[in-house]
Amino acid sequence: MDEILFRALAEGVGRYLDAVERLAAAQPRPAGSELRRMSAAWRALLGLHRPDGARGRCSGCERRAAMCTAWRVAAAYFLRRLRG
Ligand SMILES: [Zn+2]
Repeated sequence: MDEILFRALAEGVGRYLDAVERLAAAQPRPAGSELRRMSAAWRALLGLHRPDGARGRCSGCERRAAMCTAWRVAAAYFLRRLRG
């Protein structure tokens, strides 16, 4: 994937997860702690699937395509949510 396009995608997903964490802070237990856990899990997962620019592949699943499955799911769910 183009590095600029990936950066825009990663920033959009990051903003969504930031918004979830702000929402979590206003929730009582256990909802707030479960939202924080879910957000942290997504950040960890996506961190493992960062593209390796030098090799042109995902560093987690070695997929060469423009965007690996982990980022496709994040974009489909989280970026649509930001717009809606
Ligand atoms: Zn991947």
